Amino acid sequence: MNDNNEGNINSILFEKREILNITPISTLSRQISEINLNNSDNNDDEGDIVLPHTKRRSSVLRRMSVGYQIDDNQKLKTKLDIFTDTNDELYKRSNSNTPNCKINDFEKLKVLGQGAYGKVILVKNKYNGKLFAQKELKKASIIINNKNIERTLSERTILSKITSHQNIVKLFYALHDNSKLYLLMEFIPGGELFKYLIKENFLNEKSSCFYIIQMSMALNFLHKFGIVYRDLKPENCMLDKDGYLILTDFGLAKKSTDDQDDNNWCNSIIGTPEYAAPEVLKGENYGSLADWWSLGCVLFDLLTGNPPFTGNNHQKIINKVLKEKPKYPFHLMTSSKELLNKLLNKNIDKRFNVDDNWISYQKFSFFRHYKFKDIENRNIEPPIKPIINNLENAENFDIEFTNMKISDLNGDLNVDSNINDNDCFNGFSYTASNSFMDSYLK
Ligand code: AMP
Repeated sequence: MNDNNEGNINSILFEKREILNITPISTLSRQISEINLNNSDNNDDEGDIVLPHTKRRSSVLRRMSVGYQIDDNQKLKTKLDIFTDTNDELYKRSNSNTPNCKINDFEKLKVLGQGAYGKVILVKNKYNGKLFAQKELKKASIIINNKNIERTLSERTILSKITSHQNIVKLFYALHDNSKLYLLMEFIPGGELFKYLIKENFLNEKSSCFYIIQMSMALNFLHKFGIVYRDLKPENCMLDKDGYLILTDFGLAKKSTDDQDDNNWCNSIIGTPEYAAPEVLKGENYGSLADWWSLGCVLFDLLTGNPPFTGNNHQKIINKVLKEKPKYPFHLMTSSKELLNKLLNKNIDKRFNVDDNWISYQKFSFFRHYKFKDIENRNIEPPIKPIINNLENAENFDIEFTNMKISDLNGDLNVDSNINDNDCFNGFSYTASNSFMDSYLK
């Protein structure tokens, strides 16, 4: 590994790696031996040992989520009842006020990124100067497919109800005009964890532990409310100004419905294949255990620079997820392998159920580096501290986006804000309570 790598991340205070004196990348890449394993489903043993993947995401940039529809079980829940399901435990916790602002109250500053359905833009409230990340979604392109409607509504609905977890992005407003939907979320200025991983290649166990604890707390919180996140990957984890982790992109998250059995089952084949559990890829019923598999994949990714099952097309990846054992690089510590083995078990009956064993989970040797409480209380100095000189410059975002001309985005400022009575997104608007807003936008 090039020692200068560490100096290169001049904008980041990075903890010294545990892995030292390893062979240079050029030598290792020639040595990598992919050991073929038998197709056993039994994943109780540790995976075979190979040299570490040395090149992070050589050709793949951001891994995109995919969704395949299984028709008979995917009836679109009637649109508006998603917004107003008053029996829903989450609904009782949410505060849905009539929006006290309109989209023209926000000035566009920078493009932050591009999601599956539209751009995310840094905007500033013209009256109080507060910054938000505004996710825009074109109604026309959403309406083409019922699944898209469901996902869009699901993101708005879940985020408006999940108002109180420190590792989950906050939604402040949902607005719409006659052409677009807008989700105004907290702006997370540290950028994507993914970006730091690309620079660093892989993290040591202690740094990985810092992020895995936060992902675990967020998933456990969602699962308590019957929400399966379904798309955990480094691309969906962002860092706040201090370097703490925030989970974003709830487009694929799903609330369990009463018409399915009590185990919270979903059955769309959805997510990002590299991180999707075998039961998801097989199109079987799945629940929150699928998220714990994904967490295992993300842990593997943080520690080695790649998820455990990769390939140059989806079919190859899916075959590996279904049939192969993960191959552990030599440098992985026993404590890491122990946790990986618990999470990356293809058999859901044998996979460690973190939600049911939350206390014993925290006692795994992998977590010896930190107490969950200390991270929850933000008493820990994060391993990566984003440098932020001016929030409005969005310095931690890709210049491919931040250099885009804002004037090009303002073309639809004159859009007709009168919304047709039959608009299928009526009911979409939402404003968080003033107290919630005040507590986070101080
Ligand atoms: P998404 O559509 O959620 O996948 O978002 C696309 C990209 O926009 C992400 O990869 C981030 O770089 C950026 N982004 C999304 N949400 C936020 C946010 N709340 N704050 C800052 N950037 C964000």
